[in-house]
Amino acid sequence: MQDAKLNDEPGRLAALRRLEVLDTAPEEPFENVVSLVRTVLGVPMAAVTLIDEDRQWFKARSGLGVSETPRNVSFCTHAIRQSEPFLIDDARLDARFAENPFVTGDPNVRSYAGIPLLTPDGYNVGVLCAIDDKVRTFSSSEVDILSNFARIVMNELQLRHIAERDQLTGALTRRGFIEKAEQEIARFRRYHRPCCLALVDIDHFKAVNDTYGHPAGDAVLREMVASVVGASRPVDLLGRLGGEEFAVLLPETEASEALLAVERFRETLAGLAITLPDGRVIHITASFGIAPLSDEIDTVEQWIAAADGPLYAAKRGGRNRCEMLH
Ligand code: GH3
Ligand code: MG
Ligand code: MG
Repeated sequence: MQDAKLNDEPGRLAALRRLEVLDTAPEEPFENVVSLVRTVLGVPMAAVTLIDEDRQWFKARSGLGVSETPRNVSFCTHAIRQSEPFLIDDARLDARFAENPFVTGDPNVRSYAGIPLLTPDGYNVGVLCAIDDKVRTFSSSEVDILSNFARIVMNELQLRHIAERDQLTGALTRRGFIEKAEQEIARFRRYHRPCCLALVDIDHFKAVNDTYGHPAGDAVLREMVASVVGASRPVDLLGRLGGEEFAVLLPETEASEALLAVERFRETLAGLAITLPDGRVIHITASFGIAPLSDEIDTVEQWIAAADGPLYAAKRGGRNRCEMLH
């Protein structure tokens, strides 16, 4: 079974995608592990790498200059083809690496120890590796230490993912959403890519709870999220900001396109027949407030506040409406 998964590249890439870690900012637990690997094993370089379709991307690195490399020059891409540790004593004597630019030039890799990062469902998504610019044989106790650190890295990758998702609806948590929205603000500053944020608030939701009970209200929240996600593009991100407050992030989207998209969410939701836990069927509507990203917005809090005005206007205007910030 394990061997089948070692050769299942589409399955492996899907497992990597599910972690939603590629191209995220540095995070302390991973920084700590690579720093510990350097100290404990006495190596000048260590990294947590994730092997994407055609590149290796470093979630954390120490002593290494670049944030990613093409996959074809990666040592770690060899490491993920096996379940056991991947060990090289002298890369110059190995036909696979003798001509590798990282061996013939900077940072002059000589020895390498890589432990595959194995997901609970059996895929090697990346590697924790220790690299030396001197020839060396990693001892079995050093390999054991590295293996333990690799397990810690994999646990952290799982935990950070769980912490990002709301258990009831599967939407991003407030924390997860804010992190993504911050990335969009940074992207806007650098590249001026358009992005819109839409607040979503179910109309008369208190009445749903009061009439049908809290579990029914929960079912409505789940259906609402599934419906909006179904009507959105794969790059759009839905977050639960708290209670029944939700927001959708629409990257690469101008205000006019955002209005069309959000109108589509509104209509889909209004047309939905929701079956409650007791079998009764109800209909709901929601109101939406949209704010395009602009130079006036510095923080996610400001961005959310900017969308709150239009949301309030949509409520006042009769609900089941979308309003845009002017
Ligand atoms: P409006 O049209 O003005 O939005 O009216 P509303 O009744 O929807 O008012 P509001 O948005 O203030 O409603 C918030 C309600 O959402 C009150 C609270 O009990 C309910 N709520 C918040 N979180 C949850 C939850 O996790 N599950 C359930 N079932 N209800 C929740
Ligand atoms: Mg509300
Ligand atoms: Mg409401």
